[in-house]
Amino acid sequence: MSKPSARKSPAKPAKTSAKRAEPISIPRTHKSAPLKQLALTDDKPGNGLWPSDGEVFDRTCTDCPRLAEFLEEGRKQYPDYYCAPVAPFGDRKAHLIIIGLAPGFHGANATGRPFTGDYAGVLLYQTLHKFGFASQPESVHRNDGLKLIDARISNAVKCVPPDNKPLPIEITTCNHYLQAELATAPKNVVLLALGSIGHNAVLRTLGLRASDYKFGHGAEFKLPGGQWLIDSYHCSRYNTNTRRLTEAMFEAVFARAKQLIAGT
Ligand code: SF4
Repeated sequence: MSKPSARKSPAKPAKTSAKRAEPISIPRTHKSAPLKQLALTDDKPGNGLWPSDGEVFDRTCTDCPRLAEFLEEGRKQYPDYYCAPVAPFGDRKAHLIIIGLAPGFHGANATGRPFTGDYAGVLLYQTLHKFGFASQPESVHRNDGLKLIDARISNAVKCVPPDNKPLPIEITTCNHYLQAELATAPKNVVLLALGSIGHNAVLRTLGLRASDYKFGHGAEFKLPGGQWLIDSYHCSRYNTNTRRLTEAMFEAVFARAKQLIAGT
């Protein structure tokens, strides 16, 4: 009987490398999505894209290997999609900053503007317009002339993740961009988090403990730096179809955000 050979345990992944998605599967286009994609070459001044200044935002960032690979695959399958880190949209000095999760594959990842081109953006832009934060009730593509008014939209993670699920390390890796964004915001800014990942990303950015500020729809917190944090369930198709989030619930959060901006 031969002596069993010693088995080497598999090497531990490096701390900075994220788990690979196997296999990488790109979701099929959603039939109801009002898509009008523009390629990267369609960039024009004033179309909502922030410059790649490497600090607030870097459109060439590939710090998350799994997401960079997913984008590369996406570019092959959808060559007319934007397929790059998606910049925040809106004024750097805005008093309302909305923090979502990450770009949707056939939405922001296709058009290059947050919440543009997919279902989640329909209720968001309609509500922003209703409360005076957007010049139009619809966001179709990034050269559609839409302007945000004293508002900005950003995401906890700037690259589209497979299955809309970023890994914890990807949320952590991307957090410095959000940190740089918030550093330029007014002291009394209202941070409206869409979902718990956006909520926790804000807390991480400001060095605050999640256990001291529990996420809940409609919850609001005065933060030590003078900012307000207000929460809403994410306006995803799932949440609105299941009525976890209704139009009235979403509008109530925006009404409160408006009051907080006005200092009431
Ligand atoms: S998610 Fe953020 S940190 Fe990661 S590759 Fe994209 S832009 Fe870079």
